[in-house]
Amino acid sequence: MPSVKEVCVISNRLQRSLETADHLLGKLQLAGFKAVDHLTSQTDLIISIGGDGSFLKVMHDLEYPETPVLAINTGHLGFFSEITPDQIDLLLERVSRNEYFIEEMAPLKAVITTHDETSTLRGINEVVIKSSLVKAIHLKIQVNGQLIQRFSGDGLIISTSAGSTAYSYSTGGSIVDPRLDVLQLTPLAPINTNSYRCFTSSVIFPPDACIQITPERDPEGYVLVSADGIDFPQEYFNTIDVSLDEKRIKMLRLKRHDFWNKVVKKFL
Ligand code: NAP
Repeated sequence: MPSVKEVCVISNRLQRSLETADHLLGKLQLAGFKAVDHLTSQTDLIISIGGDGSFLKVMHDLEYPETPVLAINTGHLGFFSEITPDQIDLLLERVSRNEYFIEEMAPLKAVITTHDETSTLRGINEVVIKSSLVKAIHLKIQVNGQLIQRFSGDGLIISTSAGSTAYSYSTGGSIVDPRLDVLQLTPLAPINTNSYRCFTSSVIFPPDACIQITPERDPEGYVLVSADGIDFPQEYFNTIDVSLDEKRIKMLRLKRHDFWNKVVKKFL
């Protein structure tokens, strides 16, 4: 990667984040970097200031840029963040000396087809498919063309490894080491009666899996498809195909990611 010259700084609106952004902008200027507040074709590094939610919003707003990104955490313990505000000097030193590396992360791509159009969503944590009402939703799940199950319940979460510590974990999914490129399918309140049988645990698929969801019946209300907490209501869909995206997010790292350290601190 060429040396970093232009840095785009994007902060959430919280007081601590805004103060961190001010501090960072001053330090960038002193160190001879050009700082901008929007992504340009010259930008070498994006810095997101906030928590994991803010990082996800920045990635969605910038439509999954090719430019490397680093998150400074000013929220709770951030899974995507690389440093805290007190490490800004260290960051600039290391970036000036080209002492960093890039770790790639594959988001999910969900291709939704309806009678007359096809749209694509991306999710870094997950894609959720659920009813907009408190009504059971009935879905057929196929993986690479093979029928896996007919699902009845509240809905489904399909998460990345990076997203395994988010919504999926709250609903009983497994924590997955982000070095594993997998897709995890986690059922939301699956119905298990004599009439309906579904998996009650999450299921993990390899990186080349394409999980295809089709409606078994017309849902009442509409179907909510959500990517990283951003909702895309669908009146009807024919198919939703979820797979790992070929487009990768490039995370600028100073050290090997201390994922398990964060898991222990956050959950145990
Ligand atoms: P949000 O308020 O921005 O985030 C909800 C919580 O999830 C925050 O504490 C956030 O951390 C944390 N989070 C986000 N990504 C994470 C990750 N990869 N690992 C561990 N924690 C993570 O909520 P939102 O705008 O609705 O949606 C953003 C994300 O929230 C979604 O992608 C979804 O995974 C998660 N969510 C969780 C639940 C649940 O657990 N029941 C329900 C809905 C959504 P920060 O405090 O650092 O921002």
